[in-house]
Amino acid sequence: MTSDITRASAAELADRLSRKEISAVEATQAHLDRIDAVDGSVRAFLHVDARGALATARDIDQRRMAGEDLHVLAGVPIAVKDIATTKGMPTTAGSRILEGWIPPYDATVVARLKAAGMPILGKTNMDEFAMGSSTEHSAFGPSHNPWDLERIPGGSGGGSSAAVASYQAPLAIGTDTGGSIRQPAAVTGTVGTKPTYGGVSRYGLIALASSLDQAGPVTRTVLDAALLHSVIGGYDPMDSTSINAPVPPVLEAARRADVKGMRIGVVKELGGEGYQQGVRARFEESVQLLVDAGAEVVEVSCPSFEYALAAYYLILPSEASSNLAKFDAMRYGLRVLPEGVDDPSAEQVMAASRDAGFGDEVKRRIILGTYALSSGYYDAYYGSAQKVRTLISRDFAAAFDQVDVLVSPTTPTTAFKIGEKVDNPLAMYLNDIATIPANLAGIPGMSLPSGLADEDGLPTGIQILAPATKDERLYGVGAALEAALNRRWGGPLLAKAPELLTNTTGLSTHATGLSTTALSTTALSTTANGREVRS
Ligand code: GLN
Repeated sequence: MTSDITRASAAELADRLSRKEISAVEATQAHLDRIDAVDGSVRAFLHVDARGALATARDIDQRRMAGEDLHVLAGVPIAVKDIATTKGMPTTAGSRILEGWIPPYDATVVARLKAAGMPILGKTNMDEFAMGSSTEHSAFGPSHNPWDLERIPGGSGGGSSAAVASYQAPLAIGTDTGGSIRQPAAVTGTVGTKPTYGGVSRYGLIALASSLDQAGPVTRTVLDAALLHSVIGGYDPMDSTSINAPVPPVLEAARRADVKGMRIGVVKELGGEGYQQGVRARFEESVQLLVDAGAEVVEVSCPSFEYALAAYYLILPSEASSNLAKFDAMRYGLRVLPEGVDDPSAEQVMAASRDAGFGDEVKRRIILGTYALSSGYYDAYYGSAQKVRTLISRDFAAAFDQVDVLVSPTTPTTAFKIGEKVDNPLAMYLNDIATIPANLAGIPGMSLPSGLADEDGLPTGIQILAPATKDERLYGVGAALEAALNRRWGGPLLAKAPELLTNTTGLSTHATGLSTTALSTTALSTTANGREVRS
């Protein structure tokens, strides 16, 4: 019965809740139990708010009994990436510098979840300030991929993808600056959508790179993504880049699930050499299924994509170095007094605090960004990167003159092993080679499972891209492909996942085999205590 609840999609749960077959308290408790049972191994959560989630659930149950007209997702629990501020609940962005901070306000995304009556299970792990592709840059230790606990669940939003893939939450919130919703989805066999830039409010999301950041749904089905997108999307006067227009008709498109007569472009530059054989094979099969479903497929070329990664790693660090300047130990967050200095200046306190509070990857990007923006180099680096950004937008515009959507593999490889790339920044950056162009152009993208790679039996994803504000096209194509793939597999891909996903008793063997877990255990218990004690 309980596993019944945690196995259900959000749409199914919503249905059962509205028919009063289950209560919101039951739905929430089942997921809290699942977290208790498996998160010791997966480590998706940095903070679990059982009391708060159950209080919301009880309130929803009472209101439903009283006959109130509730939101369709009322009572469906959700996990939130720890980058979104949550009033009264710790928010760290995966960083020591914010450890113990309790925000006094909710991000708009969170406020909208609450307004819909969705119990918030807790906050999910992430790379520090969303910099990374594996969660290994989290100050609190990595999360683990439920398909193989020795592998990464993607990043930066690996906590959200791992939680959803291991049935600890039916839904989660992620953010995508260069791929952090889509890449984790691809490597965990889940669905992730990055909406059009400005389609979901950034108010209250701790900023990484403001011109690239976008929050979106992390789910197990395309329909669930559309349901969640409809809750969090739409105009917000608190975000100056918010699009003042209704949410695109994503739900209708997901329900219609139709690609007949659509023109689909395969991006020549995203795929081929450098992409794992099994990733390519599953991608090509998915494209064939779209053809079988009535779409017309053509190849399109986007020559400037070759420079996307380089441009991104100038623009992102530039914006990040500016955004992160606010962590100055004066107003909130960690404050460290420099050792052996009697009467330290404010600058010395800032330096000591930032040195202790930021991890290596964050420092690396602050240095890169400060350099790229410095006078004398600005035009050569930041300026050139902005020009490349324009060329990439033009490539997309030309492509969308010919086709309705573009497709590519989401990532070059399946999930790699924890520890494999953490000391090689460039190898880590290359994971996002196919996802970054969409962020630079502000267009929407979705990743959904395309199958298991033959070499390693691990999930791989296909990415769909659409013109800005045409998010519904992702859902139409995504839902049609999902239906065709599920028919082929005889059910969803996650049903093929190993023991952890089906049976909680098999866990101990996995858990004890992990050398990295010990480290994150200590880190996590510090967080759980809430307060920090350090010199
Ligand atoms: N992995 C990319 C980076 O490190 C993308 C991160 C993100 O989307 N937040 O910047």
